[in-house]
Order: sequence, then structure tokens, then C-alpha cells
Amino acid sequence: MEKIKMITPIAELDGDEMTRVVWQWIKDILILPFVDLKSEYYDLSLTNREKTADQVTKDAATAIDRLGVGVKCATITPNAQRVAEYNLTKMWKSPNGTIRAALDGTVFREPIMVSGITPLVSGWTSPIIIARHAYGDVYKDVEAICPKGSKAELVVTDGDKETRYLIADYQKSAGVALGMHNLDGSIRSFAKSCFNYALSKKQDLWFSSKDTISATYDHRFKDIFQEEYDLNYKDAFEKAGITYFYTLIDDAVARVMRSKGGFIWACKNYDGDVMSDMLATAFGSLAMMTSVLVSPTGKYEYEAAHGTVTRHYYRHLKGEETGTNPIATIFAWTGALAKRGELDCAPELTRFAHLLEKTTIDTVEKGYMTGDLKAIFRKEGVEPVALTTKAFLQMIADNLSEAL
Ligand code: NAP
Ligand code: MG
Repeated sequence: MEKIKMITPIAELDGDEMTRVVWQWIKDILILPFVDLKSEYYDLSLTNREKTADQVTKDAATAIDRLGVGVKCATITPNAQRVAEYNLTKMWKSPNGTIRAALDGTVFREPIMVSGITPLVSGWTSPIIIARHAYGDVYKDVEAICPKGSKAELVVTDGDKETRYLIADYQKSAGVALGMHNLDGSIRSFAKSCFNYALSKKQDLWFSSKDTISATYDHRFKDIFQEEYDLNYKDAFEKAGITYFYTLIDDAVARVMRSKGGFIWACKNYDGDVMSDMLATAFGSLAMMTSVLVSPTGKYEYEAAHGTVTRHYYRHLKGEETGTNPIATIFAWTGALAKRGELDCAPELTRFAHLLEKTTIDTVEKGYMTGDLKAIFRKEGVEPVALTTKAFLQMIADNLSEAL
């Protein structure tokens, strides 16, 4: 069989631990035998981030911006324990945070639904897509330890004008303080991405924050969304028969639980981080959640929503075969290849990507999967079989060859 040709390369961002191992297997077993892959390779392993003083992450972000499409493997976000484990000179920032900040994009996460895996919330019959604002707040904060007797203030200087706000007086006890920010431009880009994505999916858009408590900061988000909606999207929404709906984050959580799904939920950075893990788990598994970062200028980065699956990696290093679920990482590749095909007017590539997705889902629905899915798979007449990652990938490849 002749391999499918690519016109423009995609940016390929390799990562860490078990997902790095699975990354190579996916390429070897599912991509390279079928596609004449063109990619610009960036090694975002923690070792190489340390070696390049994190320059590789910045270069990768530039490459996504230049090429328009990227695919990323999960990476370690260093904490104190990782600094010791990897002998780091610095606690490098989260690569995802760096890339999101560089592209000023919004992350959309959508569960992969498979018949046989019923969401824990029995009322959810359609996916809930979550949009996470990818800039600022606690992810770009400044934090301080404040000794007993000290005082923390927020100072805003504007030319000669200086405004001071008392944060706290640490008279009775030492403590901590945090300063965070966001930018109108970024909030507006976030709103635009969400409205555009809702229109392209023809699904309602919900947005939630905590504007009652955070009457200036979160209220700014609410106002900018409303402004954008009234000015630029109201007519299109009405024409498409979809709605935009703002509510408090706590009310949104309650409504989400009672809903049937089938809408987009826009969240601020931290809410989106937490709620996407909750949704992924409730829809079945974190390993069944896809993720795409969309910049306001239309650049796309695809990845799995889960991390580097550390515990499996240590078992792998001991020579054990693991059943690490590769599905979200496969969908990261198919998302990137399908988008590349769409942008390059190369329908063969897009068709291949969609076929690989369908074959992956079909394989699970026929009863072949990794252990995490076997534990939650219930389907009349199908006895699920747990495979190792490699055996599962091989089975998808066999089914794919047949389908092609
Ligand atoms: P994680 O890697 O997502 O894994 C948490 C647990 O979830 C695993 O131990 C495993 O449970 C299960 N799991 C996740 N993905 C799975 C898969 N594909 N197949 C089977 N089981 C899966 O999260 P973490 O342990 O909190 O974080 C590990 C590292 O990943 C950290 O260094 C963190 O910084 C990084 N991280 C990166 C990203 C990213 O790059 N996007 C996102 C999150 C975390 P069992 O062990 O019980 O089988
Ligand atoms: Mg998270």
C-alpha cells in the first residue's frame, strides 16, 4: 500500500515517562506504516528542557504558530520532588502553561464516548465539552511568604498615580499572599474562541465564574463575554438556534450534573483545570478525554488530557507490560492529522485520521481494550478482554489495515 502523503509538516512535541513510551509505539504501529509523516520534532522531555533551559518549549510554541498544527505528548510539570529526582537547576514552568500563554489560546476538552462505557452521571447522554481559559490567574501568579508582623499590599502604578490596596496585615500570624492578573485582550480572545467554537459545533455555550465574590476580577470576565456576545455573536447564535448563558460557577456545577450534556461549558483557567478532570472521570476515564488548544488566530495544538502516567512508567522500567490506555494520545494524533489535511486541502489525510478514530472505537466496542476500560465496560453479549498497550495497538493496526 502506498503511504498517504503530507504537504505541510506538523509540530511534534515529545514528552515524558509512560506517555513518551506510548508515543513512540503509536507512531511505529499506527502512523508510520500508513502515513509518510512530515513533522518538526521538539523533545520536551524534562531532561531536554533542563538541558536547553526550557528554550525547547518556547521553540515548540513558535513552531505551532508557524505551522498552524501541533501534537503534544504529556509532560512532567516539575514540583519539589521532581526537582530532586531530575537534579534540576530550576523548577521549570508547566510546558502547557508556557505554550498556552504564547499562543493565547483556549483549550477545548471533549470526552470520547464509546458504547459500553456509560457515564457515571446517568443523565449524560451526549458529551460535555469544556473550554478552559488558557491564560493567567493562578497559573501566572506571584506568591510570597509573609512573616509575622509584615504587611502585604497591592500597588498599581499608572504614570504618577499610585493606588494601594491592603491585602492583609500579618500582625497575629505569619502567612502567605498571592497576586494574580489577567488581560482584557486574552479574556476577549477566550470569549471569541468559545463563541466561534459553539457556532461551529452548533451547541449552546455556558460560561461561569464567581462574580458575586470577585466583584471586580471575575466580573470583568462576565462583562467582556456579554459585550462580545451582544456586539458580534448574538445574531449568529439566534440564527443557529443556540444560546449563550452565564451563571455562577456553583450554579453551573449543579446544572451540569442535572443536564443531558451536549453543550460547551466555558470556564476560567483553574475551574477548567479541575472541572475537566471531574468530567473526564465521570464520562469514563481520563484516558478517554481529548484536548485541543485553539488560538484566536486559528492555530491548533492537540494532546491527551491526562498526565505522564508515572506509576505505569515505573512498572514498565521494571520490565512489566502495562495496560496504559493510548486512546487519548491516538486522538491527539488523529486530531492533528485531520486538521492538517483540512488546512492543506489533503482529504486523504483527514480521511485516514477519521478512520483511525473509528477503528479505535470499534475495537473497544468489540470488547478489546486496556484494563482501565475493562473495569467500567458493560455491554450485552460482549465479554471485555484486557490487553497490554502494545497488543491493543497491534489489534487496532490490524483492524485499520483491513478497513483501509
Ligand atoms: P496522570 O499521569 O494522568 O495519572 C494519574 C492516574 O490516572 C494514573 O496513575 C493511572 O491510574 C490513571 N491514568 C491516567 N492516564 C491513564 C492512561 N492513559 N491509561 C491508564 N490509566 C491512566 O496524572 P498524575 O499522576 O497526577 O501526573 C503524572 C505526571 O503527569 C506529573 O508529573 C504531572 O505534572 C504530569 N501531567 C501532565 C499533563 C500534561 O502534560 N498535559 C497533565 C496532567 C499531569 P493507575 O495508576 O491507578 O492505573
Ligand atoms: Mg489538571
